[in-house]
Amino acid sequence: MRIQFCGADRTVTGSSHLLEVNGLRIFLDMGMYQGARDEARQFNQYLPADVKSADAILLTHGHLDHCGKLPVALRAGFSGPIYCTPATAEVARIVLEDSARIQQEDVEYMNRRTRPPQDPADQPLYGPADVPNVLKRFRPVNYRQKTDLGKGVSFTYYDAGHILGSAYVIVEWSEQGRPHTLLFTGDIGRFDTPILRDPFPLPGPVDQVITESTYGNVSHGPISDVGPQFLEAVKTVIARKGRLVVPSFAIGRTQTMLWYLQKFIVEKQIPQIPVFVDSPMGCEATAAYSKFTENYDDETRALIGTHDLFGVSQMTCAVSTQQSRQINNTAGPCVIIASSPTCEFGRVLHHLERSVENPNDMVLFCGFIPPNTLGRRLQDGEKRVRIFDRWYDVRCQVRTIHGLSAHADGDELLRFLKPTLVGQTEAYVVHGEVPQSEAFAGRLIAAGIGRATVPAMESSAVAYTAPSLRTGEVRRTDQE
Ligand SMILES: [Zn+2]
Repeated sequence: MRIQFCGADRTVTGSSHLLEVNGLRIFLDMGMYQGARDEARQFNQYLPADVKSADAILLTHGHLDHCGKLPVALRAGFSGPIYCTPATAEVARIVLEDSARIQQEDVEYMNRRTRPPQDPADQPLYGPADVPNVLKRFRPVNYRQKTDLGKGVSFTYYDAGHILGSAYVIVEWSEQGRPHTLLFTGDIGRFDTPILRDPFPLPGPVDQVITESTYGNVSHGPISDVGPQFLEAVKTVIARKGRLVVPSFAIGRTQTMLWYLQKFIVEKQIPQIPVFVDSPMGCEATAAYSKFTENYDDETRALIGTHDLFGVSQMTCAVSTQQSRQINNTAGPCVIIASSPTCEFGRVLHHLERSVENPNDMVLFCGFIPPNTLGRRLQDGEKRVRIFDRWYDVRCQVRTIHGLSAHADGDELLRFLKPTLVGQTEAYVVHGEVPQSEAFAGRLIAAGIGRATVPAMESSAVAYTAPSLRTGEVRRTDQE
């Protein structure tokens, strides 16, 4: 067994790992790096050698940083199956089509602005025409259904509770007559959130775990605070006839906010007010969430048939820019959910332009916003911010609901991993910034796991370590 770390190592984006076992070469995720333009381009053009000869890709979920490089792999000659849950196949389609369109528009814009006519034009990594080729390779597999990959290797998906269709995967095989198991967590969600089932209890200890650590050393607010905090925010803007602007991810967070709003309306805690989803991808994702009802938890399943879960019949989905502009002319009270959460780009900027100087309006963030972004400046309480090319005084209210993260915090990750916090398990801690990953590796050791490594990009881990060699140390470099 050999693991090659090909992305999301000491960072939170670009998830990809290559597992070589019994002569099979299996990629766990094929994610795109999202970050500064040149850095992202360099990473996203990189593929481990011989992607062409890989036997399969196991996709954990449809976020771009987990599936966004699938078209690049196909362009490089990969022609095997791409396994994922049925709902992930749909979410990944939405995400890849959106990514292809944005890349194409972005490259055309940059070529027009910065390239002299005699220079060869930049090309996008892939365009809309590449996406159908990826979709043809999808092999949907249900949760908890063991799938044989040949050569004595099989895998099983289990609910990860992160976004619609998300899964963690356990790969099983036999090596030198001994059964082996490897867990790849993908992204693990919080427990007790609405809509989706919780992360499925880990069936037992595994030999190796590749675990995310996005918030490995962070505590989110309690999930039980989310409903009351959101309700209070909505009631405040209704009383002031203001606009509630929610900068949000299109997939997951948007549907959670819609679910809460509809609950408040059905329970008559608030009147029916105009609700807008100003994001083409958010609208498509909401349709997907409405369709895959088999992924719901018991609470949400019980509501099917009693009311419109996401208020789809009442809300306005803005797909075109014309529809988006009309929202901006709407007076309060209303709720506008628009991307992006960082407020660095996207339609939310137009709504912020109108709302930041209005004391009756409120901007509501759903979780931590990365530093050096407009969203973070607003969240930090700056009194003057620049939107597009103009400075604005911030007179609106700004609030944050911290419990709404789509990722488990450190305690929740430990709760999920509990069955495998044992001496014979070795952990590779990925998908986190270095301080989070190192702290979480330390917490794993303290909780009893045999060994924890924070691997470097392009490093590899080889074979199974005999119990006598276990040191309990936290390794940072690719010593193996
Ligand atoms: Zn994710």
